[in-house]
Amino acid sequence: IKIKITNIDIPVAFASAFEGEIIRRKDMRVEFDGSRVDCAELVHTCDASEIEDHKITVVGPEVDEMEDGSKNSIAYVVKVAGKNMQPDFEPVIERKFHNYINCIEGVYHTGQRDMQRIRISHAAFDAGFRIKHIGEVLYTQVKNEFDAVVDKCEVVIYTDPAECTRIRHEVAIPTFEKRDDRLANLTDESVDVYYSCILCQAFSPSHVCVVTPERLGLCGAVSWLDAKATNELDPNGPCQVITKERPINEELGSYEDVDEAVQKFSQGALEHVTLYSIMQDPMTSCGCFECICGIEPFSNGVVIANREYAGMTPLGMTFSEMASMTGGGVQTPGFMGHGKHFIASKKFMKAEGGIERIVWMPKELKEFIAEKLNATAKELYGIDNFTDMIGDETVATDPETLVGFLTEKGHPALGLDPMM
Ligand code: SF4
Ligand code: ZN
Repeated sequence: IKIKITNIDIPVAFASAFEGEIIRRKDMRVEFDGSRVDCAELVHTCDASEIEDHKITVVGPEVDEMEDGSKNSIAYVVKVAGKNMQPDFEPVIERKFHNYINCIEGVYHTGQRDMQRIRISHAAFDAGFRIKHIGEVLYTQVKNEFDAVVDKCEVVIYTDPAECTRIRHEVAIPTFEKRDDRLANLTDESVDVYYSCILCQAFSPSHVCVVTPERLGLCGAVSWLDAKATNELDPNGPCQVITKERPINEELGSYEDVDEAVQKFSQGALEHVTLYSIMQDPMTSCGCFECICGIEPFSNGVVIANREYAGMTPLGMTFSEMASMTGGGVQTPGFMGHGKHFIASKKFMKAEGGIERIVWMPKELKEFIAEKLNATAKELYGIDNFTDMIGDETVATDPETLVGFLTEKGHPALGLDPMM
């Protein structure tokens, strides 16, 4: 393992070797948890005159003033300015916070946006680590890695609960919604290029994601806009432009350009990849898919399981059993890893008939995606409340009961051609 040491003025070590470090409840001094209290992490583009470079401010209590073992709010706003800075780069920089904060010895970070979770260990606290040091790490790393676009950087960290609530609801959430809406208005047809992503080749050497406006990376963390920004920030980096000038079959989403790109970026391991089919040359999967979709032969449909779901599916397999058939950068027709937001896409399995093939999903995932999925079903097929027709674990975890339920609901998949 290569250990990259960066010189940052903090009382504990900072190195990639600490990235996988887990801090147990009994070892933690304090915790910040976006799923329970108001938290946020945000990059905000400002005018250079509004920023004092390297200024780090903590608004609210420091760790000393927090109860041992307590759950608290935190919201950090990293203000940046630079003549080449664009708001499109904000999410790309934000996505690195997870990595930066995790590299601190005795500090642990998961999640993103307003759902991050941070733990600071007793050992780090005893060594003198404080919240202001998170600001120091964010400042140094952003200046180090994004020097092409960030000239000045200032960090404000809020721990005052009322301020965190204000930042989360009045600043962060509207920013995230604006970003998501920009993407929602883009279609695969409306853009001139797609992007490859090979960030996961460290673990899956032949894996290539093709990221389009209507099909985000299977990890759920790389949208077309993010891939575009990543390419602009680092033209020789993990995201490369894929032209789409030579379509082979628009229904399947196959292009000579895409085939050439996946051949090149997989070092010849892949020859053909389609964007919209689960049966013919489906996209490969690495290991970090948010969801897996697999065919369910009795209903002519597909079952989707998300990573958080630990129970059984009507395929007779759990998520991890499905994952063992799907990952590793190989093509497995009938199984496909994908991001959560792809489920409501008009391009989801378009070649096989689209979302009307979806017959089962865990209840929690169904609720998460319901609003968008129902809107797509209404638009594509004129179906109201489509999610009511989709089974979940409270209805069935075996194919017979599931088909009974689908028949009762008049689910459209039952009338479609078999997929194999
Ligand atoms: Fe990139 Fe795909 Fe890996 Fe996400 S899953 S980081 S899009 S290669
Ligand atoms: Zn991956």
